[in-house]
Amino acid sequence: MADLRELYQEVVFDHYKKPRNCHRLSDANHIAEGYNPLCGDKVTVYLKVADNVIADVSFEGLGCAISTASASLMTEALKGKTLDEAEHIFQEFHEMVTCHDHVDHGDMGKLGVLAGVSEFPARVKCATLAWHTLQSAIKNRGKIVTTE
Ligand code: ZN
Repeated sequence: MADLRELYQEVVFDHYKKPRNCHRLSDANHIAEGYNPLCGDKVTVYLKVADNVIADVSFEGLGCAISTASASLMTEALKGKTLDEAEHIFQEFHEMVTCHDHVDHGDMGKLGVLAGVSEFPARVKCATLAWHTLQSAIKNRGKIVTTE
């Protein structure tokens, strides 16, 4: 597992130890649960959407460092964004963690720290779990998604 250490960069580790927006959102109007059976990661994403804008977003979960840090970074990146912007950020993020050749992620801000995940295919599902769950929360309500 030594090669995974590269992934545990400072920012990732910080978000794992002190996840941001990690709580239940009592006035959420979109909620979804996600599960990654490959690793055992579980996440619940809470969204408060008003006028197509993500007014608030939070998560609760039990998972590995990558899935927790990714969920934490996601909530920071998406708060205040429109649903269209969120979809665009998701596409960019997905491309970044799945495509080895995708070198230009300078516009990803802090999310760029997860670019190294593309070197570890088994970890891609950890990194994208919260994002798939977010999409599910936007589209459906209360449905459990898995990465399979
Ligand atoms: Zn995981």
